[in-house]
Amino acid sequence: MSEIELLPRDEHNAQLIAHTHPPDWRNPTPLPLYDLVVIGGGTAGLVSAAGTAGLGGKVALIERHLLGGDCLNYGCVPSKALIRAARSAYEVRRASDFGVMVNGDGWASGGREPPENIGVDFPHVMARMRRLRAGISHHDSAERFTRLGVSVFLGQARFTGPQTIEVGGQTLRFKRAIIASGARAARPDIPGLADAGFLTNETVFSLTELPRRLVVIGGGPIGCELAQAFRRFGSDVTLVQRGSRLLPKDEPDAAEIVERQLIREGITVLRNARPIRVEMSAAGKLLVIATARQEQTLAADAILAAAGRTPNVGGLDLEAAGVAHGKRGVEVNDFLQTANPRIYAAGDIAGSYQFTHAADAMARVCIQNALFSFGPLGKKRLSKLVVPWTTFTDPEVAHVGLTVETAKQQGVEIDTYREELRRVDRAILDGEDEGFALIHTRRGTPDVVGCTIVGSHAGDMIGEISLLMTAGLKLSNLASTIHCYPTQVEVLKRLGDQYNKTRLAPRAAWLLKSIIGWRR
Ligand SMILES: Cc1cc2nc3c(=O)[nH]c(=O)nc-3n(C[C@H](O)[C@H](O)[C@H](O)COP(=O)(O)OP(=O)(O)OC[C@H]3O[C@@H](n4cnc5c(N)ncnc54)[C@H](O)[C@@H]3O)c2cc1C
Repeated sequence: MSEIELLPRDEHNAQLIAHTHPPDWRNPTPLPLYDLVVIGGGTAGLVSAAGTAGLGGKVALIERHLLGGDCLNYGCVPSKALIRAARSAYEVRRASDFGVMVNGDGWASGGREPPENIGVDFPHVMARMRRLRAGISHHDSAERFTRLGVSVFLGQARFTGPQTIEVGGQTLRFKRAIIASGARAARPDIPGLADAGFLTNETVFSLTELPRRLVVIGGGPIGCELAQAFRRFGSDVTLVQRGSRLLPKDEPDAAEIVERQLIREGITVLRNARPIRVEMSAAGKLLVIATARQEQTLAADAILAAAGRTPNVGGLDLEAAGVAHGKRGVEVNDFLQTANPRIYAAGDIAGSYQFTHAADAMARVCIQNALFSFGPLGKKRLSKLVVPWTTFTDPEVAHVGLTVETAKQQGVEIDTYREELRRVDRAILDGEDEGFALIHTRRGTPDVVGCTIVGSHAGDMIGEISLLMTAGLKLSNLASTIHCYPTQVEVLKRLGDQYNKTRLAPRAAWLLKSIIGWRR
């Protein structure tokens, strides 16, 4: 079995590998027939395997690299550990806004200037991340899944027929299979970039030295989150976005607030910017970009590619199993079934929503449809899922359902209710009052079809609206729900109040007038 390398070689990464790809692992002897074989040990694969084993099914899980997939190793977990450290640095820098002086001079003189030279010990930040990541990796370990009753195979999986998969020279036969092979960072097609060398989410978390100048290519969630974090650590950051705005899947107003904050923190944001080539020079890597007005050269010590994701289909030999795939990954119907009706796909490989919680939800749909439905009976549909998402910049942008743009595309007529965080007491007191919440309802009804929240705790707050939409509750239910005072989530209650005012107030006024008129 090939040895897995994860840099730097330290005790934390050694612990992570010991859990997620033990060097001395021996694949089991396959059972004659599995109820389910799962390809890929990321979130979608792990949930599929654990769920099936928990229900008594015979299940095999195949992972070629590290169990836990992107989320644990190269995605959510390490990025959120860095974001937390970056927030700490930012909070210290703005401590004087709250009257807290963190340097001796400022304290003694009662100075009000924000401290300039807050030291960030980058190697410490990264070591903390690696320690925490390794610490939680036992949840996804080969040993734990074996204990759960899953046959864990480490190695590259390849279809050899419509009901057979080969791994490490052994053949696994299945009644049903789930492809959960995920996605990886797209390699931007920029002449000179490969020769100059660049970072992706698979290498950026191995850094042990802070790049002095960092260029981030891609203004989606990953690009924005990491650009802000590295700026807060002290890098000189330029964010290059091909499109006309950041976070293109979110409401434009939300993206604008994030962009303003990034610029305020000293990040150079270049929109409508097309990378042309990379050259090497004594001054470092030179990225030449074209904007509407001119060509511009950006000097950098490191370039991070965060512009899109490519599905992991290579080496799977999908043709042997009759599974169709395209640019966005494995093609599935609304039941997450591929062109081979015995084979399903979940998570990033199946396109639509590329989030950990979506991979989890899709895996549950697959288990139900693959193993516990009879014909159309008991089948679950992807289109019925209510999938929120959050970009963990500061402020956060959280979203669920339709935006103005997607409502227009789908021909859904909407009413929009909006409230600013600067009108919410707790946000004012916290000094976190830049942001808003807006809810779209189906026109003339209290049926919520979409919501966006921008604020420091937006990711925590969006859950209330996801619940509302999942349970088919109405916007008016927000008004009748008592929220604690003072909390930032009161902004949602205010949206319920707004709805009641516009819809119920005219009726109430008419009623009051009638009653007063009738009384003597
Ligand atoms: C920097 C970053 C930050 C992110 N932050 C968040 C966040 O905050 N919140 C959120 O919800 N999402 C976040 N995501 C997205 C999230 O990580 C993914 O949506 C999630 O990991 C998808 O899970 P998955 O199981 O579909 O795929 P993966 O996690 O990619 O797992 C697929 C697995 O399949 C294995 N594999 C592939 N081909 C084969 C084969 N032929 N044989 C055997 N094994 C194979 C791979 O090695 C991999 O381990 C982030 C992603 C990145 C990159």
